[in-house]
Amino acid sequence: MKLEKQDPQLAKLMELEEERQRTALEMIPSENHSSSSVREVLGSVLTDKYAEGYPKKRYYAGLKFYDEIETLCQKRAKKLFKVPYVNVQPYSGSPANQAVYLAVLNASDTTMGMSLPHGGHLTHGWKVNFSGRLFNPVLYPVDEKTHLLDYEAVEKLAKENKPKLIWVGATAYPRVFDFKRFGQIADSIGAYLAADIAHIAGLIAGGVHPSPVDYVHIITTTTHKTLRGPRGGMIMVTEKGLKKDPELPIKIDRSVFPGLQGGPHMNQIAAIAVCLKEASTPSFKRYAALIVKNAKALAAELKKYGFNLITGGTDNHLILIDLRNKNISGKDAQELLEEAGITVNKNTIPYDTASPFNPSGIRLGTPALTTRGMKEKEMKLIALWINEVISNPKSVKRIREQVRKLTKKFPLPH
Ligand SMILES: *Cc1c(COP(=O)(O)O)cnc(C)c1O
Repeated sequence: MKLEKQDPQLAKLMELEEERQRTALEMIPSENHSSSSVREVLGSVLTDKYAEGYPKKRYYAGLKFYDEIETLCQKRAKKLFKVPYVNVQPYSGSPANQAVYLAVLNASDTTMGMSLPHGGHLTHGWKVNFSGRLFNPVLYPVDEKTHLLDYEAVEKLAKENKPKLIWVGATAYPRVFDFKRFGQIADSIGAYLAADIAHIAGLIAGGVHPSPVDYVHIITTTTHKTLRGPRGGMIMVTEKGLKKDPELPIKIDRSVFPGLQGGPHMNQIAAIAVCLKEASTPSFKRYAALIVKNAKALAAELKKYGFNLITGGTDNHLILIDLRNKNISGKDAQELLEEAGITVNKNTIPYDTASPFNPSGIRLGTPALTTRGMKEKEMKLIALWINEVISNPKSVKRIREQVRKLTKKFPLPH
C-alpha cells in the first residue's frame, strides 16, 4: 500500500522535508544529496535480510546473492582507494572508528587525535565519547596564530606520550593534511596511524585531495559526505598497514562482527557499491574538482565582505568563519541564515572562548550545492546573501524569496 494511504501522518512529514530540501541551500559540509540509484537500492528488498558474518562465512541461510553484493562492494572500494583490504559493514563513521580501537588497543591505552574544538572528531578521543572514556587520549592542537595544524606540537606530544594509535583527520579543518609528515611521526614511535577521511573521501576519490594510502596503516571513512552515497562507514588497511601487522584485516573483521555489530545492513552495503561505482567515473572527478573550485570562490567572495575565515581560506570543501568581528554569535547566525533558506551550522573556532552551544563561528561547505549543479556565479550570489542576512537581519524575508527562486533552477538529483 502507498505510504500516503497507510501512514498519512508520516507521509506528510516526509513531503515537508522534501520541500525544505528542494527550496533551501544545503551548506552543511558533511551533507550531500545522494543519487536516485542509491535511494532505489536503500529502499529495496535488500533491507529485509540478515547476513551475519562475511562472504562465504555466514551464520544465516538464503544469502546466495548477498555474498556477491558484499564482494562487489569490497572490490570497488579496494580499486577506488587502492587498498588491499576493506570492511564495508560498519553502520556509520563512528562505529567504523570504534572497530579500529577494538582491533588494535586494550582499555586505557594511550591514543592521539586532533582536539575537537580545534576541528577534530568526537571519536578521536573527546572526553564525553567512548574514545575519551575508555582510553587515554592526548589531543593535539592547531597553531594559535595561523590555525594550521601544528606538526611540531604533534611530533613533540607523540614522542612524550608514545601513543599506540594516532588519528589524522578532522571534521572542521579547511586545509590539506600532510599525511607524509604524520607517517614519519607515527613510524618514529612505532604507533599505528589511522586516517579518518570521513569528510574528504569524495575529494580523495576524485583526485583533488592527496590520498593517505602510502603513509598510514588504516583508513576509515563515512560514505555519505563528499563520497555522496548512503549513510555508512568503511575501514581499509593499506599495504603499509599489512606490512606492519599482517593480522590487521582479521582483527578489524572480528572487531566489526562479532565485536561490535550483529547483522550488517545489506541494503546499505549494496547502496555503497552503487556510490563507489558512481565515484569511479570521470563525471565524479569533475564533481570533486568543482566542489573545491566552488568553495574557493565562496571563500574569496566572503572575504571581500570582511568575513574572517579560519586559516584565511580553504583547500577543500569547507569554510570556517570566525564571526567575532561581525558582532553575531554562531547560533544567531545559524538561525538567521536558516530562516533565509541557507542551512549552515554553528561551530567552535580554534581557541574559542564562547560556549560550544553558542560558539563564535559557523561552518559551511559546497558538496550539496555542487551536486545540484551550482557554480561560481551562484557562489557569488550566496556570499552576497549571507552578508546581507548577517549585517541586516531585516533582509531575511527578501533573501528567502531569492533563495527559493534560485533553487528552482537547480533541482535535487532525484
Ligand atoms: C562525520 C565524521 C565521523 C562520524 O560519522 P558518523 O557517520 O556521524 O558516525 C567520523 N569522523 C569524522 C572525521 C567525521 O567528520
